[in-house]
Amino acid sequence: MKAAIFRGAGHIEVTEVPTPEPMPGEVLVRVHYCGICGTDLEAYQTGMYEPGLVIGHEFAGEIVALGEGVQGWAIGERVTIDNALPCGRCWFCRQGRPSLCQELLSPGITLDGGMAEYVRLPVSLLHRLPQGVSTRQGALVEPLTIALHGVRSSALKPGDWALVLGAGPIGLLTLQCALLAGARQVLVVEVNPKRAAIARELGASYVLHPQRDNLAVEVAARTDGLGPDVVYVCTGAAPAFESALGLVRRGGQVFVLGLCPEPVPTDFMSVVLSELDIRGGYLGHGAFPAALDYLAQGRVRVDPLISHEIALEDVVEQGFEQMLRPDTEAIKVLVRIGGERSVKRKTGNGKRKT
Ligand SMILES: [Zn+2]
Ligand SMILES: [Zn+2]
Repeated sequence: MKAAIFRGAGHIEVTEVPTPEPMPGEVLVRVHYCGICGTDLEAYQTGMYEPGLVIGHEFAGEIVALGEGVQGWAIGERVTIDNALPCGRCWFCRQGRPSLCQELLSPGITLDGGMAEYVRLPVSLLHRLPQGVSTRQGALVEPLTIALHGVRSSALKPGDWALVLGAGPIGLLTLQCALLAGARQVLVVEVNPKRAAIARELGASYVLHPQRDNLAVEVAARTDGLGPDVVYVCTGAAPAFESALGLVRRGGQVFVLGLCPEPVPTDFMSVVLSELDIRGGYLGHGAFPAALDYLAQGRVRVDPLISHEIALEDVVEQGFEQMLRPDTEAIKVLVRIGGERSVKRKTGNGKRKT
């Protein structure tokens, strides 16, 4: 089968590798769509994944084979994949904080992932796609769970003002989740006009430009002079981290979902004097059922986020390299691998037949 293999910083190779066989308790999934995530870009730039890894942790497809002992799943079922496999035994797992698991495994990050024609996966990672949710949309469920987990873990209450810094995929999903959680208004700060337009389309009350607008003045003017109750940092851009503490209401919360690889100077004086709360959110484990419901009910829209659909062979040039260009128009780039087409349902002993 064809797979995108991580070879090191700046080096991803699409090549033929042996098709995996599902182990006991696993299924083989034929991947339809796999998204490129900011984390993958980060790894492409810094080399943080292990060489030899099949990348891709935002994907959906269909089950084509069942490993020994697998029950409750059938060939032909359409699934999306949780990218966190917590151990369930460590202190954090026992405290109900699986994203902090000390032995966390993760397809596409520590285990072979979904930017390949096939991937073998333990059944505990599978989530059925409801009727009406395509595998194309299914590839965006993982980022949606991150936004949803973030908003649910944040201090946001119904009637609160929220501010989202950065309207990339996570920002656009956080905007929608904050509205669903009852935010009275969500303001967005975004530099790219295309992303700004989508933020407006998805319900942002105002979209401000970080350089052209005086953020402190504009944000205060739209929040009764108080500032937003929660500021979600959904970008890796250092200036956003710096401005968040100055924009949030006194006593409010800065909730960080973006990955900024560099240390950022932080005004801890205002953390103290304004009694601010700073929190991070990582992974969306546990939020999959709700995320799938929202999608099935049309309460969250993911299609406007898909800016490009490319072939697996083109993942480096049209995917990674394109997303790294400063003038990129990319929001979510999806790699179309198997496509969604009807499958013959097979029954039998669970041996792979494709
Ligand atoms: Zn991701
Ligand atoms: Zn654990």
